[in-house]
Amino acid sequence: MSTDSQSSAKGKNEILNRHNDAAANVVPETVQLYIGGQWMESASGETFETRDPTTGQTLATPQAGNSTDIDRAVDAAWKVYDETWSGYSPADRQQILNTIADRVDENAEDFATLETLDNGKPISEARIDMKLVADHFRYFAGATRINEGMTLPSDDRRHVQTLREPFGVVGQIIPWNFPLLMAAWKLAPALAVGNAVVLKPAEETPLTVLKLMHEIDDVLPDGVVNVVTGFGTEAGEPLTAHEGIRKVAFTGSTEVGREVMKNAAENITNITLELGGKSPLIVYPDADLDRAVQTTITAIFFNTGECCCAGSRLFLHAEIKDEFLTKLAKAAENLTVDDPLLESTQLGPKVTEEQVTRTMDYIDEARKAGAEFVTGGERPDDEALAEGCFVTPTLIDNIDHDNRAVQEEIFGPVQEVFEWTDYNEMIDLANDVDYGLAAGVITSDLTEAHRAARDLEAGNIWINQYNDFPAGQPFGGYKQSGIGRETAFEAVEHYTQTKTINMALD
Ligand code: NAP
Ligand code: MG
Repeated sequence: MSTDSQSSAKGKNEILNRHNDAAANVVPETVQLYIGGQWMESASGETFETRDPTTGQTLATPQAGNSTDIDRAVDAAWKVYDETWSGYSPADRQQILNTIADRVDENAEDFATLETLDNGKPISEARIDMKLVADHFRYFAGATRINEGMTLPSDDRRHVQTLREPFGVVGQIIPWNFPLLMAAWKLAPALAVGNAVVLKPAEETPLTVLKLMHEIDDVLPDGVVNVVTGFGTEAGEPLTAHEGIRKVAFTGSTEVGREVMKNAAENITNITLELGGKSPLIVYPDADLDRAVQTTITAIFFNTGECCCAGSRLFLHAEIKDEFLTKLAKAAENLTVDDPLLESTQLGPKVTEEQVTRTMDYIDEARKAGAEFVTGGERPDDEALAEGCFVTPTLIDNIDHDNRAVQEEIFGPVQEVFEWTDYNEMIDLANDVDYGLAAGVITSDLTEAHRAARDLEAGNIWINQYNDFPAGQPFGGYKQSGIGRETAFEAVEHYTQTKTINMALD
């Protein structure tokens, strides 16, 4: 064996041992369905495996729920809603949400490690997720107290008031890119206003949500949150078309979002959708280039590019394009692509081999079209990472804006670059996609920044920063990026319905 292959075998074993040790500490012992406060097998007895995308090893074997399990979960949710939960006061619910936040904080390191094992995100980024998870529960704990109705102006013959009432039981479907954070974005507002929930995590990453249920089992009345793991078509679809589900909230691809909307139409079920994106990031010639490079790195490579709001189309002003791209390529090449459990790692594996194939297909498409690869576009040649779902940080120049790889969401560490000089042409191109989730503007001219912010068709605009989403600022999409807003008070409105009470005074 050569020295190189000996050291890579050693590297591979080190990674495997590190992951096995971590998994032994943090993977929950029970990964069954959580219905009515009980852990149980799926009705069909079927299971599936969730893998560690760094090592390819199986982490756990959760239950594959189906429509019978969804029925059981919906029944359990209505039972507790009717019997007790709907009688809880805002103060009671506030205390529950604050306790959930405390439990997340107390177990933050284990949650972060488990997220890194199941999803592949760098541990430093998983820790950021956990802080945000706790903060979201605290934000909505506060919101329980200000879900106010109104007394409406009227004449002296009637007294008219509105109540903001919960739907009862809501269904929530979660993606794999921020598994626990997306669950928090949905659970916190739904519970804050008094709904009970049936939640389906992504089959790729069910573990942190299951761990959350272990940690808060004694906090929530049985049945208030039910978790049915399983596949989209078997467990997700029946949830969206269930007549006992009064509202569906979904985060994932636009393609599946469209199906969710169709199925929800069956019972005229209220929906919110948080879907994909292909967001533009615009750099002006007056920008501080070094800082702009760092912002660009965050925009596209944070969470391995598996961000619905990733700044995946970069618009560089002609005056600075060459200099900027040279600096950016260097910064991208300097990113540490390694075992995500290591503190120093900045780019981990993608979530599954299937997602690697998807990303590589787009890369091939760009290559076939004659695009120029400034850097990346491959899997790393480090043998120690050979079992993992890694893709190198990729920058693509000279590609037609109509190319499928530009128009569609790649959801990987891949950014396409465009040059601009004329403001109006640049804005037209920036808006020339079906999506409208986010956009970024980097300039020291605040007038220009505000002008662009108004002209860009997107639900979230970042100026001189990117991927910053604290609780309290609405997040959601224009165009085919979704319907509704999460993470802020608007979400309270999405999880309630208005009742008007009109009483005769004569
Ligand atoms: P997806 O298919 O949209 O999955 C999202 C969630 O929906 C998962 O829990 C999934 O279950 C479930 N689901 C699938 N089919 C369903 C159906 N017919 N009815 C109800 N629920 C259903 O996303 P994906 O396949 O994981 O990823 C594909 C692409 O979606 C990505 O490459 C990316 O472009 C985009 N994406 C966007 C976001 C975002 O935050 N906007 C997040 C993730 C993915 P399973 O676990 O069985 O798939
Ligand atoms: Mg997994």
